[in-house]
Amino acid sequence: MEKIIDEILKKISTSEKIILSAHTNPDADAIGSCLAFALKIKSMGKTPIVALEQFDERFKILPGQEFVVHDNIEDIEGDLFISLDCATEARLGKAEIFIKKYFTINIDHHHGNTNFGNINYIIPDFSSTSEMVYNILKKTGINKDIASAIYAGIIGDTGGLRHPCTTIETMEAVTELFKLDIPFSKIYNSVMGEKSVAAHKLLGRAIEKSVFLHNGKVLYSGITKKDIEEFNGTYKDLDMIVSELISVRGVKIAFFIYEKEEGSFKVSFRAKDEYNVCAVANVFGGGGHIKAAGCTISLPFDEVIEKIKEEIDKLF
Ligand code: 5GP
Ligand code: MN
Repeated sequence: MEKIIDEILKKISTSEKIILSAHTNPDADAIGSCLAFALKIKSMGKTPIVALEQFDERFKILPGQEFVVHDNIEDIEGDLFISLDCATEARLGKAEIFIKKYFTINIDHHHGNTNFGNINYIIPDFSSTSEMVYNILKKTGINKDIASAIYAGIIGDTGGLRHPCTTIETMEAVTELFKLDIPFSKIYNSVMGEKSVAAHKLLGRAIEKSVFLHNGKVLYSGITKKDIEEFNGTYKDLDMIVSELISVRGVKIAFFIYEKEEGSFKVSFRAKDEYNVCAVANVFGGGGHIKAAGCTISLPFDEVIEKIKEEIDKLF
């Protein structure tokens, strides 16, 4: 592993304009790992560009926003591409084009990463890509801003240091980040807790519509485009719903569905105990982690539910 880290740092030091991206609908880990790297690259006197899909305002508290570009991603030019927190080429969305155009460094912790980079630094089941970024950047020095971005990514993917993927090393990394006097309370409250008014209302709608199966062991819900429009929201207002569903006592598997594009539904799965939802997501061409996975299915709403139910029935 040390050798790969050295190769990554060497490649960065010999490049000037470095493009960074992560999976579509980026979460705290995707955003945090990109921003941390961008801040480091900037401090080395180079130019970072973070190409990401639009993300929720609660992540705007993180430093490094000045490097973020959401529009006309295909026009961005550089001389090195770093993909963070992304398992497959397709999951990069529009940023997929950079793989073919530039030397690609692929840094990720997802099962089933397809090793699409020229350098692949993959540790499946590691707490977060952000902790991997910490291990890369700690060799070269981390400042308060870099530490803040890394902290956000680590707490995002560990559910605030509570999921089983949290290790002693994760805690040690966080201890080191705290030593840099990061505004941890502010970051935690914003990244983990804050939601828009639309998100609040849509959460209410999703809870109201939720359905139990298998004697309360499965709980699912769905939000339609009509629901989103009613509350003047966007799909970015939905990413906290599935964790509310899995938090219900007795529930072992939760899934949540929303219509991201016309006729195409995004599904988020969460699991507790021995249940593996990555396997369910795999059936539909998706993936992720054993206890948190997702996929996209292009079928009518009711059929999406039926197909998923069929797969989940097999687990009971
Ligand atoms: P979420 O439900 O929060 O969108 O995603 C949970 C986990 O599953 C994340 O690690 C995410 O990267 C992964 N994931 C979500 N959707 C997809 C998908 O369509 N394909 C793959 N391969 N992974 C996904
Ligand atoms: Mn991640």
